[in-house]
Amino acid sequence: MDCGEGVQRRVLAESVGLGNEMTILITHLHGDHVAGLLGLLQTMSLSQRRKPLNIVGPEKLLRWLKVTSELLHIGLTFPIVFFRARPGTVLRTPAFRIRAAKAAHSVEAFAYVVEEYGRPGIFYPEKAKKLGVPEGKLWSRLQKGRSVIVGGRKVVPSEVTGPPRPGRRVGYSGDTRPSASLARFFSGCDLLIFDSTFGQKDAAKAVDRKHSTSVEAAELARKAGVRRLALTHFSARYRSTAHLVSEARRVFTNTVAASDGLSVMVDYPAS
Ligand SMILES: [Zn+2]
Ligand SMILES: [Zn+2]
Repeated sequence: MDCGEGVQRRVLAESVGLGNEMTILITHLHGDHVAGLLGLLQTMSLSQRRKPLNIVGPEKLLRWLKVTSELLHIGLTFPIVFFRARPGTVLRTPAFRIRAAKAAHSVEAFAYVVEEYGRPGIFYPEKAKKLGVPEGKLWSRLQKGRSVIVGGRKVVPSEVTGPPRPGRRVGYSGDTRPSASLARFFSGCDLLIFDSTFGQKDAAKAVDRKHSTSVEAAELARKAGVRRLALTHFSARYRSTAHLVSEARRVFTNTVAASDGLSVMVDYPAS
């Protein structure tokens, strides 16, 4: 999600395989969100990436990529599959889908939600045995949510499995003012990563520069009913982010400050 100047260093430090299946989401065309993209693409080429790379972003991003790679004579070893961001579902992979919504920033900007598909409910073998369903193919059909016929009787998945389990949802705001529509968009996210450029005492600057304060991020997280909030995009004016976090926690307890290399486990929501 976004590709600032330092991204290559982080990618190497975290040993992210550059040849892996990958989708890059770009929220908007400000330097701190795209400056690292060309370098990253070139490094992927140097490591002989062959797999297509998904890039999601505003329409202008594709223009910028085309023009700069032409002017700089950059040839890539892999195809880019570009998905233009617009409100709604922008990309589906076998494992998840990505939805976009308009953000409220000084240039065209989008927020994203990465959403896993739901999984069928937990399978109870004893129930299947009781109904006379023989172990094997028929069990796996039921586990996948399909009905089977046993001795002329139809057995439906709900007879032998628990309720369907929802997938996990991660939201990312990019740079934005908070808004009611974003609160709806991020509703029920298991993790929300939200713009937290300013502290309360600089609230006027947040309005002026079309960013959010950590308290505004927390208020939105509460409205949206998310499970956890990660604050990000802190202004360089603050030596420490501790006060941004404590201001936010007064509104929304389950808040952390994102930082380089931080890893956060996203648990499955209760079904
Ligand atoms: Zn920006
Ligand atoms: Zn920014």
